[in-house]
Amino acid sequence: MGCHGWDYESVLPYFKRAEDQENGEDEFHGIGGPLSVSNMTFSRPICDDFLNAVAENGTPINHDINGATQEGVGYYQLTAKNGRRCSSAVAYLNRARSRPNLAIITHAMVNRLGFTDKRADTVHITRKGEPMQVHANKEIILSAGAIGSPQILQLSGIGPAALLQEHSIELLHDSPDVGANLQDHLQIRTVYKTHKPITLNDQLSNPLQKLSAGLQYALLRKGPLSMAASQVYAFCRTRLANERPDIQYHFQPLSSDSPGEGLNNFSAFTASVCQLRPESRGSIRIQSTNPLKHPVIQANYLSTDLDCQTAVESLRFTRKIMRTIAMREHVKSEHLPDPLAQTDEELLQQARQIANTIYHPTSTCRMGADSRSVVDPQLRVKGVLGLRVADASIMPEIVSGNTNAPTIMIGEKAADMILAER
Ligand SMILES: Cc1cc2nc3c(=O)[nH]c(=O)nc-3n(C[C@H](O)[C@H](O)[C@H](O)COP(=O)(O)OP(=O)(O)OC[C@H]3O[C@@H](n4cnc5c(N)ncnc54)[C@H](O)[C@@H]3O)c2cc1C
Repeated sequence: MGCHGWDYESVLPYFKRAEDQENGEDEFHGIGGPLSVSNMTFSRPICDDFLNAVAENGTPINHDINGATQEGVGYYQLTAKNGRRCSSAVAYLNRARSRPNLAIITHAMVNRLGFTDKRADTVHITRKGEPMQVHANKEIILSAGAIGSPQILQLSGIGPAALLQEHSIELLHDSPDVGANLQDHLQIRTVYKTHKPITLNDQLSNPLQKLSAGLQYALLRKGPLSMAASQVYAFCRTRLANERPDIQYHFQPLSSDSPGEGLNNFSAFTASVCQLRPESRGSIRIQSTNPLKHPVIQANYLSTDLDCQTAVESLRFTRKIMRTIAMREHVKSEHLPDPLAQTDEELLQQARQIANTIYHPTSTCRMGADSRSVVDPQLRVKGVLGLRVADASIMPEIVSGNTNAPTIMIGEKAADMILAER
């Protein structure tokens, strides 16, 4: 795609540099980096049974999807240490906090960037209701994510000319792909009811067990509160003819009507499935010059034939997993999708109803060598000077997996490029 310096060999050292891998160092993993990567300490027998069911259905067991091959089923690792999340703030910012050349300004909303002769030199901020400006001597690095970064660029006059004209924003550079190419993994959350009370829905509906989970975490940093939302991964090929996995599972021994809501009051688990390389493309477009007004997020999920077909196939694939010897003794009934949905059309309709984002928006300030791309392979915003973007928005295409570690890799690589230029 013309992004020289971003091939596998070139980016692997940055993944390794970031990492402090509990299982030790090898060809694919690093130790001693700021980002703690640890093994899951919490499980449920139903998780093992799902893992065995996927294997029974033809996907190999693979304990390291970030190793030599991605295909396979196993337990997720966590960016956590001793049961506590290792966010990028914990990993990077905390240890840099006391540097004399770092000032952290919180409760601050970036409104737009200011330029002199097309060189970015000012960040316009509102802090606790007061306007404020920060001046840059060298350059500005924008890291507001795949929704925030294109919004700020558009508000600063870098974006599709027609959109900026619509909002009477002075055009600094006509860059039609600022906010275009929005990609995401759409998760279809299938939910199955179980015969026995073996899920977290059961454990956490009981006040005593809830208390015990709280104590377990407070005293030992273990138990359900130390876990990620998902325990088991599976990277599968919906068709054996596919060269590499096209879908990913996030298996959870719990269920809720939607992510972040309370658990269901019946025994059930969730097998969320998403397409790894969707073709659908959406957009981020400002709807106001007021930076506090959220931009319009138009995801356009399931808008191509391949994406629709994969959604249908992934639901059929899930049903096959539920019919395996390892799983069928648990499954009392299919809750989502509707068990009556059988034809392709009915399954697609179900997918549209029960799917939602898995929170992996990318590619809205796409890196590339072509004239429409927003940043060059050095992450410099085209058409202006002194401005880079370093976040998930620069991915030319969404990665075939979770987006957090690749975004941290982008940060690591950006840091080297900036230092090299100085
Ligand atoms: C609920 C949830 C669960 C997730 N789970 C996983 C997971 O399990 N595994 C995984 O790999 N990935 C996961 N992700 C995705 C992962 O968190 C993102 O891919 C990653 O954080 C992207 O990093 P980023 O730097 O591009 O953007 P962000 O992390 O979003 O950082 C952008 C920052 O800019 C700030 N900002 C934006 N606009 C402005 C403005 N105008 N002024 C000031 N500040 C601004 C935002 O507040 C934010 O702090 C999850 C995401 C969510 C939301």
